[in-house]
Amino acid sequence: MSLTPETVAKRLKQVKYPGFTRDIVSFGIVKNIEVDEGAAVTVSLVFPKPDPEVQKRVEESVRAAVLETPGAQGVNIRSEARDAAPRKSPPQAREAEKKLPDIKHYVAVASGKGGVGKSTVAVNLAVSLAKKRSGVGLMDADIWGPSAPVMTGTQGETPVATPERKMLPVEKYGLKIMSIGYLINEEETVIWRGPMVHGAVKQFVEDVVWTNIDYLVIDLPPGTGDAQLSIAQTAPLSGGVIVTTPQEVSLIDARRGILMFEKLNIPVIGIVENMSYLDVPGGEKIDIFGRGGGKAMAERFKVPFLGEIPIDPNVRKGGDGGVPVVESDPDSPASLAFAKVADEVLKHLENG
Ligand code: ADP
Repeated sequence: MSLTPETVAKRLKQVKYPGFTRDIVSFGIVKNIEVDEGAAVTVSLVFPKPDPEVQKRVEESVRAAVLETPGAQGVNIRSEARDAAPRKSPPQAREAEKKLPDIKHYVAVASGKGGVGKSTVAVNLAVSLAKKRSGVGLMDADIWGPSAPVMTGTQGETPVATPERKMLPVEKYGLKIMSIGYLINEEETVIWRGPMVHGAVKQFVEDVVWTNIDYLVIDLPPGTGDAQLSIAQTAPLSGGVIVTTPQEVSLIDARRGILMFEKLNIPVIGIVENMSYLDVPGGEKIDIFGRGGGKAMAERFKVPFLGEIPIDPNVRKGGDGGVPVVESDPDSPASLAFAKVADEVLKHLENG
Protein backbone atom coordinates (compact mmCIF):
# COMPACT_ATOMS: atom_id res chain seq x y z
CA MET A 1 0.00 0.00 0.00
CA SER A 2 1.51 3.32 -1.02
CA LEU A 3 1.79 6.18 1.41
CA THR A 4 -0.76 8.91 0.70
CA PRO A 5 -2.29 11.74 2.73
CA GLU A 6 -5.39 9.51 3.03
CA THR A 7 -3.50 6.62 4.61
CA VAL A 8 -1.86 9.04 7.01
CA ALA A 9 -5.25 10.58 7.86
CA LYS A 10 -6.62 7.12 8.53
CA ARG A 11 -3.82 6.48 10.97
CA LEU A 12 -4.27 9.90 12.62
CA LYS A 13 -7.93 9.08 13.23
CA GLN A 14 -6.66 6.80 15.97
CA VAL A 15 -5.14 9.74 17.83
CA LYS A 16 -7.56 11.05 20.44
CA TYR A 17 -7.72 14.67 21.52
CA PRO A 18 -6.45 14.70 25.12
CA GLY A 19 -9.34 14.23 27.51
CA PHE A 20 -11.82 13.22 24.81
CA THR A 21 -12.99 10.08 23.08
CA ARG A 22 -13.02 11.92 19.78
CA ASP A 23 -10.07 11.82 17.39
CA ILE A 24 -8.09 14.81 16.21
CA VAL A 25 -9.14 14.42 12.56
CA SER A 26 -12.88 14.62 13.18
CA PHE A 27 -12.24 17.41 15.66
CA GLY A 28 -10.83 19.39 12.74
CA ILE A 29 -7.39 19.88 14.26
CA VAL A 30 -5.56 18.24 11.34
CA LYS A 31 -5.73 20.89 8.66
CA ASN A 32 -3.42 19.48 6.04
CA ILE A 33 -1.32 16.42 5.27
CA GLU A 34 1.34 16.37 2.58
CA VAL A 35 3.56 13.52 1.49
CA ASP A 36 6.64 14.48 -0.50
CA GLU A 37 8.55 12.39 -3.03
CA GLY A 38 10.87 11.04 -0.36
CA ALA A 39 7.84 9.83 1.65
CA ALA A 40 8.36 12.48 4.32
CA VAL A 41 5.06 13.53 5.80
CA THR A 42 4.14 17.09 6.78
CA VAL A 43 1.12 17.43 9.05
CA SER A 44 -0.37 20.87 9.77
CA LEU A 45 -2.26 21.10 13.04
CA VAL A 46 -4.40 24.04 14.07
CA PHE A 47 -5.57 24.13 17.68
CA PRO A 48 -8.62 26.14 18.74
CA LYS A 49 -6.70 27.89 21.53
CA PRO A 50 -3.07 27.99 22.59
CA ASP A 51 -2.37 25.33 25.21
CA PRO A 52 1.27 24.25 25.17
CA GLU A 53 0.55 21.10 27.19
CA VAL A 54 -2.21 19.84 24.87
CA GLN A 55 -0.29 20.87 21.75
CA LYS A 56 2.80 19.01 22.90
CA ARG A 57 0.85 15.85 23.69
CA VAL A 58 -0.97 15.88 20.36
CA GLU A 59 2.24 16.62 18.42
CA GLU A 60 4.00 13.70 20.10
CA SER A 61 1.10 11.35 19.34
CA VAL A 62 0.98 12.57 15.73
CA ARG A 63 4.71 12.08 15.34
CA ALA A 64 4.50 8.52 16.67
CA ALA A 65 1.40 7.71 14.59
CA VAL A 66 2.95 8.96 11.34
CA LEU A 67 6.19 7.10 11.92
CA GLU A 68 4.19 3.91 12.51
CA THR A 69 2.43 4.35 9.17
CA PRO A 70 3.97 1.89 6.68
CA GLY A 71 6.22 3.67 4.20
CA ALA A 72 6.62 6.95 6.11
CA GLN A 73 10.24 8.07 6.01
CA GLY A 74 10.02 11.11 8.20
CA VAL A 75 7.63 13.54 9.81
CA ASN A 76 7.41 17.28 10.02
CA ILE A 77 4.74 18.87 12.19
CA ARG A 78 3.48 22.40 11.83
CA SER A 79 1.46 23.41 14.80
CA GLU A 80 -0.48 26.59 15.33
CA ALA A 81 -3.14 27.83 17.73
CA ARG A 82 -6.01 29.82 16.37
CA ASP A 83 -6.06 32.90 18.49
CA ALA A 84 -2.41 33.65 17.99
CA ALA A 85 -2.11 37.10 16.42
CA PRO A 86 -2.74 36.57 12.70
CA ARG A 87 0.20 38.70 11.60
CA LYS A 88 2.54 36.44 13.50
CA SER A 89 1.15 33.21 12.03
CA PRO A 90 3.45 31.44 9.64
CA PRO A 91 2.20 31.17 6.06
CA GLN A 92 1.15 27.54 6.44
CA ALA A 93 -1.14 28.39 9.35
CA ARG A 94 -2.64 31.24 7.37
CA GLU A 95 -3.21 28.77 4.56
CA ALA A 96 -5.00 26.44 6.98
CA GLU A 97 -7.18 29.28 8.21
CA LYS A 98 -7.89 30.71 4.79
CA LYS A 99 -11.25 29.00 4.60
CA LEU A 100 -12.48 30.56 7.81
CA PRO A 101 -14.47 33.74 7.36
CA ASP A 102 -13.11 36.94 8.76
CA ILE A 103 -15.27 37.04 11.90
CA LYS A 104 -13.90 38.79 14.98
CA HIS A 105 -15.90 37.09 17.73
CA TYR A 106 -17.62 33.71 17.74
CA VAL A 107 -19.90 33.26 20.74
CA ALA A 108 -21.46 29.86 21.41
CA VAL A 109 -24.66 29.54 23.41
CA ALA A 110 -24.87 26.15 25.10
CA SER A 111 -27.00 24.34 27.64
CA GLY A 112 -26.66 21.08 29.50
CA LYS A 113 -30.07 19.95 28.30
CA GLY A 114 -32.98 20.98 26.09
CA GLY A 115 -35.93 23.11 27.06
CA VAL A 116 -34.11 25.62 29.25
CA GLY A 117 -34.47 28.43 26.72
CA LYS A 118 -31.07 28.20 25.05
CA SER A 119 -32.40 29.13 21.59
CA THR A 120 -34.57 31.87 23.06
CA VAL A 121 -31.50 33.35 24.74
CA ALA A 122 -29.39 32.95 21.58
CA VAL A 123 -31.95 34.78 19.41
CA ASN A 124 -32.68 37.56 21.90
CA LEU A 125 -28.97 37.97 22.62
CA ALA A 126 -28.22 38.24 18.90
CA VAL A 127 -31.00 40.80 18.31
CA SER A 128 -29.88 42.77 21.39
CA LEU A 129 -26.30 42.76 20.12
CA ALA A 130 -27.52 43.95 16.72
CA LYS A 131 -29.11 46.95 18.42
CA LYS A 132 -25.76 47.83 19.97
CA ARG A 133 -23.32 46.91 17.22
CA SER A 134 -23.32 46.43 13.47
CA GLY A 135 -22.17 43.18 11.93
CA VAL A 136 -24.02 40.60 14.02
CA GLY A 137 -24.85 37.11 12.79
CA LEU A 138 -26.81 34.18 14.18
CA MET A 139 -25.78 30.67 13.25
CA ASP A 140 -28.32 28.09 14.29
CA ALA A 141 -26.18 25.00 14.85
CA ASP A 142 -28.99 23.25 16.73
CA ILE A 143 -29.15 20.80 13.88
CA TRP A 144 -31.66 18.47 15.50
CA GLY A 145 -34.06 21.22 16.49
CA PRO A 146 -33.41 24.36 14.46
CA SER A 147 -35.57 27.14 15.84
CA ALA A 148 -34.01 30.33 14.48
CA PRO A 149 -36.30 30.44 11.40
CA VAL A 150 -39.50 30.32 13.49
CA MET A 151 -38.12 32.54 16.26
CA THR A 152 -37.13 35.25 13.77
CA GLY A 153 -40.17 34.83 11.51
CA THR A 154 -38.03 33.79 8.56
CA GLN A 155 -39.28 30.25 8.06
CA GLY A 156 -39.88 29.52 4.39
CA GLU A 157 -37.03 31.75 3.27
CA THR A 158 -34.25 30.18 1.27
CA PRO A 159 -30.66 31.37 1.40
CA VAL A 160 -29.54 32.60 -2.02
CA ALA A 161 -26.60 30.79 -3.62
CA THR A 162 -23.76 32.88 -5.06
CA PRO A 163 -21.91 32.04 -8.30
CA GLU A 164 -19.03 30.86 -6.07
CA ARG A 165 -21.41 28.24 -4.65
CA LYS A 166 -21.63 29.93 -1.29
CA MET A 167 -24.83 30.81 0.55
CA LEU A 168 -26.02 34.27 1.48
CA PRO A 169 -27.50 34.35 4.97
CA VAL A 170 -31.11 35.39 5.50
CA GLU A 171 -31.47 38.90 6.95
CA LYS A 172 -33.88 40.06 9.65
CA TYR A 173 -33.80 42.40 12.66
CA GLY A 174 -30.36 43.62 11.66
CA LEU A 175 -29.00 40.07 11.80
CA LYS A 176 -27.56 37.74 9.20
CA ILE A 177 -29.00 34.33 9.95
CA MET A 178 -28.20 30.80 8.82
CA SER A 179 -30.04 27.68 9.90
CA ILE A 180 -30.36 24.14 8.62
CA GLY A 181 -34.08 24.84 8.94
CA TYR A 182 -33.88 26.95 5.76
CA LEU A 183 -32.38 24.10 3.79
CA ILE A 184 -34.13 20.90 4.74
CA ASN A 185 -37.04 19.50 6.65
CA GLU A 186 -36.48 19.35 10.36
CA GLU A 187 -37.51 15.68 10.41
CA GLU A 188 -34.66 14.83 8.06
CA THR A 189 -31.93 15.88 10.48
CA VAL A 190 -33.31 13.98 13.45
CA ILE A 191 -31.45 10.84 12.45
CA TRP A 192 -28.19 12.62 11.66
CA ARG A 193 -25.21 11.29 13.51
CA GLY A 194 -22.17 13.21 14.72
CA PRO A 195 -20.05 13.31 11.55
CA MET A 196 -22.93 14.60 9.40
CA VAL A 197 -23.71 17.26 11.93
CA HIS A 198 -20.07 18.24 12.08
CA GLY A 199 -19.97 18.46 8.27
CA ALA A 200 -23.08 20.62 8.12
CA VAL A 201 -21.80 23.01 10.74
CA LYS A 202 -18.39 23.20 9.07
CA GLN A 203 -20.20 24.27 5.90
CA PHE A 204 -22.15 26.84 7.87
CA VAL A 205 -18.88 28.38 8.96
CA GLU A 206 -16.95 28.07 5.70
CA ASP A 207 -19.55 28.22 2.93
CA VAL A 208 -21.79 31.00 4.13
CA VAL A 209 -21.00 34.57 3.11
CA TRP A 210 -20.47 36.02 6.58
CA THR A 211 -19.12 39.27 5.17
CA ASN A 212 -18.74 42.15 7.63
CA ILE A 213 -19.71 40.03 10.60
CA ASP A 214 -17.91 40.91 13.80
CA TYR A 215 -20.08 38.96 16.23
CA LEU A 216 -21.43 35.53 15.36
CA VAL A 217 -23.79 34.01 17.91
CA ILE A 218 -23.87 30.23 17.55
CA ASP A 219 -26.82 28.31 18.97
CA LEU A 220 -25.34 24.89 19.84
CA PRO A 221 -27.48 21.77 20.13
CA PRO A 222 -28.52 21.11 23.74
CA GLY A 223 -26.24 18.84 25.72
CA THR A 224 -22.52 18.37 26.09
CA GLY A 225 -21.81 15.16 24.15
CA ASP A 226 -19.38 14.46 21.37
CA ALA A 227 -21.49 16.24 18.73
CA GLN A 228 -21.56 19.45 20.73
CA LEU A 229 -17.83 19.19 21.37
CA SER A 230 -17.17 18.64 17.72
CA ILE A 231 -19.26 21.67 16.77
CA ALA A 232 -17.58 23.77 19.43
CA GLN A 233 -14.31 22.85 17.70
CA THR A 234 -15.53 23.77 14.22
CA ALA A 235 -15.34 27.50 14.79
CA PRO A 236 -12.58 29.29 16.68
CA LEU A 237 -14.87 30.21 19.55
CA SER A 238 -14.11 33.37 21.48
CA GLY A 239 -16.26 32.22 24.36
CA GLY A 240 -19.28 30.31 25.52
CA VAL A 241 -22.48 31.37 27.23
CA ILE A 242 -24.27 28.71 29.27
CA VAL A 243 -28.01 28.86 29.74
CA THR A 244 -29.62 27.14 32.69
CA THR A 245 -32.82 27.26 34.65
CA PRO A 246 -32.49 27.55 38.42
CA GLN A 247 -33.47 23.96 39.34
CA GLU A 248 -30.81 21.65 40.68
CA VAL A 249 -31.28 19.13 37.83
CA SER A 250 -30.65 21.79 35.25
CA LEU A 251 -27.66 23.15 37.14
CA ILE A 252 -25.98 19.75 37.23
CA ASP A 253 -26.19 19.70 33.44
CA ALA A 254 -25.00 23.30 33.21
CA ARG A 255 -21.89 22.27 35.12
CA ARG A 256 -21.11 19.87 32.29
CA GLY A 257 -21.34 22.84 29.94
CA ILE A 258 -18.71 24.71 31.94
CA LEU A 259 -16.47 21.65 31.92
CA MET A 260 -16.95 21.21 28.17
CA PHE A 261 -15.71 24.73 27.45
CA GLU A 262 -12.91 24.45 29.96
CA LYS A 263 -11.67 21.22 28.43
CA LEU A 264 -11.52 22.94 25.05
CA ASN A 265 -9.80 25.97 26.54
CA ILE A 266 -12.68 28.14 25.44
CA PRO A 267 -13.39 30.91 27.96
CA VAL A 268 -16.78 30.75 29.66
CA ILE A 269 -18.23 34.21 29.13
CA GLY A 270 -20.78 33.43 31.78
CA ILE A 271 -24.00 31.81 32.92
CA VAL A 272 -27.50 33.05 32.16
CA GLU A 273 -30.28 31.94 34.47
CA ASN A 274 -33.45 31.74 32.39
CA MET A 275 -36.98 31.40 33.74
CA SER A 276 -35.49 32.77 36.91
CA TYR A 277 -38.61 34.25 38.52
CA LEU A 278 -42.09 35.45 37.70
CA ASP A 279 -43.00 39.12 37.96
CA VAL A 280 -46.51 39.58 39.30
CA PRO A 281 -48.49 42.83 39.33
CA GLY A 282 -47.55 44.85 42.37
CA GLY A 283 -43.84 44.34 41.88
CA GLU A 284 -43.56 40.98 43.63
CA LYS A 285 -41.16 38.43 42.17
CA ILE A 286 -42.14 34.80 42.65
CA ASP A 287 -39.35 32.23 42.59
CA ILE A 288 -41.01 29.37 40.82
CA PHE A 289 -37.96 27.24 40.23
CA GLY A 290 -35.76 28.48 43.06
CA ARG A 291 -34.11 31.65 41.79
CA GLY A 292 -30.41 32.11 42.43
CA GLY A 293 -29.07 28.67 41.51
CA GLY A 294 -27.35 30.01 38.39
CA LYS A 295 -25.62 32.74 40.34
CA ALA A 296 -24.48 30.30 43.03
CA MET A 297 -23.13 27.98 40.38
CA ALA A 298 -21.25 30.83 38.68
CA GLU A 299 -19.65 31.70 42.01
CA ARG A 300 -18.75 28.10 42.71
CA PHE A 301 -17.05 27.73 39.34
CA LYS A 302 -15.60 31.23 39.35
CA VAL A 303 -17.22 32.19 36.06
CA PRO A 304 -19.18 35.41 35.48
CA PHE A 305 -22.92 35.54 36.07
CA LEU A 306 -24.56 37.36 33.16
CA GLY A 307 -28.07 37.82 34.45
CA GLU A 308 -31.51 36.48 35.25
CA ILE A 309 -34.26 36.34 32.64
CA PRO A 310 -37.76 36.31 34.12
CA ILE A 311 -40.50 33.94 33.01
CA ASP A 312 -42.62 36.05 30.73
CA PRO A 313 -45.39 34.76 28.45
CA ASN A 314 -44.31 37.43 25.94
CA VAL A 315 -40.93 35.75 25.64
CA ARG A 316 -42.63 32.55 24.50
CA LYS A 317 -45.12 34.40 22.30
CA GLY A 318 -42.26 36.33 20.72
CA GLY A 319 -40.47 33.08 19.95
CA ASP A 320 -43.52 31.37 18.53
CA GLY A 321 -44.62 34.45 16.61
CA GLY A 322 -41.28 35.27 15.04
CA VAL A 323 -40.82 38.65 16.73
CA PRO A 324 -38.31 38.29 19.59
CA VAL A 325 -39.40 40.09 22.75
CA VAL A 326 -36.41 42.45 22.62
CA GLU A 327 -37.85 43.66 19.32
CA SER A 328 -41.57 43.73 20.18
CA ASP A 329 -41.29 45.02 23.74
CA PRO A 330 -37.78 46.35 24.31
CA ASP A 331 -38.59 47.96 27.67
CA SER A 332 -40.06 44.86 29.33
CA PRO A 333 -38.08 43.39 32.24
CA ALA A 334 -37.21 40.33 30.14
CA SER A 335 -35.90 42.51 27.29
CA LEU A 336 -33.87 44.64 29.66
CA ALA A 337 -32.43 41.45 31.14
CA PHE A 338 -31.44 40.24 27.65
CA ALA A 339 -29.90 43.65 26.92
CA LYS A 340 -27.85 43.36 30.10
CA VAL A 341 -26.62 39.92 29.02
CA ALA A 342 -25.63 41.46 25.68
CA ASP A 343 -23.71 44.23 27.49
CA GLU A 344 -21.88 41.68 29.60
CA VAL A 345 -20.98 39.63 26.53
CA LEU A 346 -19.67 42.73 24.75
CA LYS A 347 -17.68 43.69 27.81
CA HIS A 348 -16.04 40.27 27.80
CA LEU A 349 -15.32 40.28 24.07
CA GLU A 350 -14.14 43.83 23.72
CA ASN A 351 -12.18 44.26 26.93
CA GLY A 352 -10.57 40.88 26.81
P1 ADP B 1 -34.03 25.20 24.24
O1 ADP B 1 -33.37 25.89 23.09
O2 ADP B 1 -33.21 25.23 25.49
O3 ADP B 1 -34.54 23.83 23.94
P2 ADP B 1 -36.18 27.09 23.79
O4 ADP B 1 -35.45 28.37 23.63
O5 ADP B 1 -36.71 26.43 22.57
O6 ADP B 1 -35.33 26.06 24.64
O7 ADP B 1 -37.35 27.36 24.85
C1 ADP B 1 -38.26 26.34 25.24
C2 ADP B 1 -39.63 26.98 25.42
O8 ADP B 1 -39.63 27.85 26.55
C3 ADP B 1 -40.05 27.83 24.24
O9 ADP B 1 -41.44 27.67 24.03
C4 ADP B 1 -39.75 29.25 24.69
O10 ADP B 1 -40.58 30.20 24.06
C5 ADP B 1 -40.05 29.15 26.17
N1 ADP B 1 -39.25 30.11 26.96
C6 ADP B 1 -37.91 30.24 26.98
N2 ADP B 1 -37.52 31.20 27.84
C7 ADP B 1 -38.67 31.71 28.39
C8 ADP B 1 -38.94 32.74 29.35
N3 ADP B 1 -37.96 33.42 29.92
N4 ADP B 1 -40.24 32.97 29.66
C9 ADP B 1 -41.24 32.26 29.08
N5 ADP B 1 -41.05 31.29 28.17
C10 ADP B 1 -39.77 31.00 27.83
